[in-house]
Amino acid sequence: MTNVKTQQSGRREFLKTAGAGLAAAATPGVMVHAASLASEPVDVMVVGSGFGGAVTALRLVQQGLRVLMLERGRRWPVKDHYTFSNMSNPDGRACWLRDSTFLGSTPYSIDRYIGVLELIPGNGMSIIAGAGLGGGSLVYNGVTYLPHAAMFRKAFGTQVDYEEMRQVYYPRAKAMLQAAPIPAWMLERPEYAAAKEWAKLGLRAGLPTRLVDCALDWNVVADELRGTNVPSVIAGEFWYGNNSGAKRSLDKNYLLQAERTGRLEILTQHQVSGVAEGPEGRYVVSAEQIDSNGSVIGRRQFVVKKLFMSGGSAGTSMMMTRAKGRGSLPRLNEHVGRHWGSNGDFFSAISGLHRYVDPVQCGTAPVAIEHLDNPVAPTMLVCFADYFSKGQAGKVSSIGMTLGPPKGYFSYDPATDKVSLNWPTSDPDVARITTAAEYTYEYLAKAYGSGVRFEAARAGSLHIHHRHPGQTNPVGASTSSHPVGGMVLGLATDNIGTVRNYPGLYVVDGSLVPGNAGCTNPSFTIAALAERNIERIIRRDFA
Ligand SMILES: Cc1cc2nc3c(=O)[nH]c(=O)nc-3n(C[C@H](O)[C@H](O)[C@H](O)COP(=O)(O)OP(=O)(O)OC[C@H]3O[C@@H](n4cnc5c(N)ncnc54)[C@H](O)[C@@H]3O)c2cc1C
Repeated sequence: MTNVKTQQSGRREFLKTAGAGLAAAATPGVMVHAASLASEPVDVMVVGSGFGGAVTALRLVQQGLRVLMLERGRRWPVKDHYTFSNMSNPDGRACWLRDSTFLGSTPYSIDRYIGVLELIPGNGMSIIAGAGLGGGSLVYNGVTYLPHAAMFRKAFGTQVDYEEMRQVYYPRAKAMLQAAPIPAWMLERPEYAAAKEWAKLGLRAGLPTRLVDCALDWNVVADELRGTNVPSVIAGEFWYGNNSGAKRSLDKNYLLQAERTGRLEILTQHQVSGVAEGPEGRYVVSAEQIDSNGSVIGRRQFVVKKLFMSGGSAGTSMMMTRAKGRGSLPRLNEHVGRHWGSNGDFFSAISGLHRYVDPVQCGTAPVAIEHLDNPVAPTMLVCFADYFSKGQAGKVSSIGMTLGPPKGYFSYDPATDKVSLNWPTSDPDVARITTAAEYTYEYLAKAYGSGVRFEAARAGSLHIHHRHPGQTNPVGASTSSHPVGGMVLGLATDNIGTVRNYPGLYVVDGSLVPGNAGCTNPSFTIAALAERNIERIIRRDFA
């Protein structure tokens, strides 16, 4: 195997020819002249540190390769029980570069900071995504859900062999993420009364109901319950990170192991602003170094031999759509920025339950109800600790998923250099998401009995202040925290993530997933797919 460590030989000669790409990658309006910036040669770069990026980086460094990772956010080592913003009085750490929070009934003014949760408003659909070392794993619920074979095949068709995934790559990812279900005794605790009620609801309706594997250290949750650690999971924290340290985010497993080899260098607060063709089949990556308020304090240019894009479904799709629009990667094909989906996400709640429960008694998201034979479309719903509905007796909040269509797309406006997400809200396949959701909620409510109803989690989609015009449906389906697609496997890339027409340029994150992850939360599938693809890429391109 060739070790692609930084090669000094020929570096000067090669860099002389890099100028054209450097200018093309830079942001219009702040064109950086090749002469004004030193270009830095890199053999292997990973952009973004979420599931795809973390898996890819670890497997590459384990081959003896040196990897440089760029991540726009900061590190979040849980140290003092006050690492992340709290929920009751949020501050800048809560959100990515905003002046106010976007969750809950009241927007809080916050200091503009490189916080963990980003809202990306789009046309008809908004995305919520994680930002920071570990990406979405910093803010997620840790639900690690293996899709059923039939659901997986509906999403991926014949592109990916489910059996191979089930036998090899899902277990490989799970061994790293160490996801496990809530211990039985814990579900009996009052802090989990809503989760218990949710389980009863599913069983009473005769639907398959099960405990979910969560990437949490349940021993830490037990400490929270004993009072020897700060209440965090049990208090409804996850959106802005968990202060008890219970969450098994990627900085504690994949990224930690990769850094320990000494071969992964991570540059945080480095935001990629452009990707362009470079000389000799290399890629020119422009990055802005930002301070904790997001101000640009430096610019760097890297000339990269093997480039792995892992900015998440929104991040990577936007970077690639911009590169296509600017003409800096002119041979990107017609599928780039397309076939995006919300994972069929919907939010709602069941209320009027006869037993006293509080919707926050669920941390993080321990019980799922499957309604795969829903005649409209299959659904799967997970209850979650809903901090924003705390105190509303008799209510359990849930996030659901169905086989949402890959009908979203990103567009580029050359006048502003902006990329926007577009979602066809009136398309019948999109409308089917809410119809399927309503069918399941009605089914559950009916099975429970009189007085029970389903409702929107505060009149819209999950307490998000940002509303889409005309949104009246009681089930909030216009915000996705599970964005997938935009650089779909087999369309914008080959079958293992190599971008079409661009050897040495790969996509390794959720943008490969075609619109939904098979009626499940997507992170497990993203991680397992990254395991599959990087194994094949190493074999093919690094041997
Ligand atoms: C509140 C919330 C709860 C969730 N709960 C669950 C759950 O329980 N189970 C589940 O399966 N999924 C959950 N998800 C979804 C899950 O987090 C994502 O599916 C997953 O993180 C996507 O992985 P990824 O590798 O595609 O990218 P991400 O994890 O999104 O990582 C992308 C990384 O790239 C960085 N980046 C982006 N653009 C740039 C740039 N230009 N330059 C440099 N860096 C950049 C970002 O900062 C980020 O760190 C949740 C998401 C949210 C927001």
